[in-house]
Amino acid sequence: MSRVFNFSAGPAALPEAVLEQARNEMLDWQGAGMSVMEMSHRGTEFISIAETAEADLRELLGVPEGYKVLFLQGGATSQFSMVPQNLLADKESADYVYTGQWSKKAIAEARKFCRVNIAASSEDGNFTYVPRFGTWRLDPASAYVHITSNETIGGVEYHWVPDVGDVPLVADMSSHLLSRPVDVSRYGVIYAGAQKNIGPAGLTIVVIREDLIGGAPAGIATMADYRTHAESGSMYNTPPTYAIYVAGLVLQWLKGLGGLAEMEKTNIAKSQLLYEYLDSTEFYGCPVSPEDRSRMNVPFRLFDDNLDAQFLAQAKQHGLVELKGHRSVGGMRASIYNAMPVEGVQALLEFMRAFERSHG
Ligand SMILES: *Cc1c(COP(=O)(O)O)cnc(C)c1O
Repeated sequence: MSRVFNFSAGPAALPEAVLEQARNEMLDWQGAGMSVMEMSHRGTEFISIAETAEADLRELLGVPEGYKVLFLQGGATSQFSMVPQNLLADKESADYVYTGQWSKKAIAEARKFCRVNIAASSEDGNFTYVPRFGTWRLDPASAYVHITSNETIGGVEYHWVPDVGDVPLVADMSSHLLSRPVDVSRYGVIYAGAQKNIGPAGLTIVVIREDLIGGAPAGIATMADYRTHAESGSMYNTPPTYAIYVAGLVLQWLKGLGGLAEMEKTNIAKSQLLYEYLDSTEFYGCPVSPEDRSRMNVPFRLFDDNLDAQFLAQAKQHGLVELKGHRSVGGMRASIYNAMPVEGVQALLEFMRAFERSHG
C-alpha cells in the first residue's frame, strides 16, 4: 500500500490514524457484532457514538450554554437557504460580505428569500482580501450579517471577528472549522460541511444560538426548520450515521493532539512554510494579501502558466496530488487541512524547489 499526499480542497485527506481505527472497527464495532453502517440510528450503540461526538465537539470548540449543535445533511449549500428561511423572522433584509465564490453562492440563494445588502465586497481586488471592517456598510435593520470566514477557492481567511453589535453574525466555516480556536459566543450561527476539515462528506455541522431557533414561517418545509432538528437531537430522520462516526474519530484524534490551540500552532507553521517560499521566489506567486491568507487553502501560480500541466503531472509522480486550482481561478491550490502532516507540506516544498531549479 502506498498513500499519496492529497491536497484536495474537499472531500479531503483524513488522518491516517482515523482511517486505521475505522478499518479495525469496520466489521465489528466494539463488540456490537456489526459495522456502524449497519446499526439502527436509534439503538444504544449509535446513540452513544453521536452523543460522544457532540460532547467532543462542544469541548473542542468551547461551545457555551445556550447553543445547539446539529448534525445535518445537505451540505453547507443547504445552509445557504436554511439561514435566511429561519433567521429572517419579521425582517426583510440581511447583510452579506462578498469575498469570493462561496459567498457569491450564499448571496444568490439568500436573494430568493430576502433583500440582500452587500455590506462589503472585495470584487474590485478579484477577491484577494477581506474588506477592512471600517469600510463595511451594515444595515441595523438586517436580520443577520453573513460572512464566509474562509473562502476555500480564493484562499482568503478572516483572522479577526467582526463586531456587528446585536445583529446575529452567521459564518460559513466549512473549510476552517476546527483548524483554530473559535469564540463561539461571538456568533449566532456557525455552519460547515464536514468534508473539508472534519470528516467524510454527508455530514453538515450547525452550531446555533437557541434564541435563533423557532422563528421560521409556518409554511417552512419540516427538514428546513432548525427547530425540527433541535427538538429531535438531530434524529428527526435517519442521520448520516457513518459520517458522524468518522467525524467523531477525528474529534478524538484532535483531543489527543491537545485540542484546537495545538492544532492551530501546527497549521500556522505549515502554512508559513509555503507562504514564505512563495514570497521568496519569482517563479511562483500567491495573489492573496499577506494579512488575509488562509492557513487551509493556499492558492499559488507559476509565473509561466505554460508549465502548469507539467507541474501537475510531475507532482503526481512524486505522490503529490490534487494541486490543480479551482476551475474558476486557475493556477494551483494546496489545501493543507488538519489532516495534512507537516511532512506533506515539506514534500511539496521540496518538489516545488526542484521544479523551479529545472525550469526557472
Ligand atoms: C465546500 C464549501 C461549500 C459547499 O459545501 P457542500 O457541502 O458541498 O454543500 C460551501 N462553503 C464553503 C466555504 C465551502 O468550502
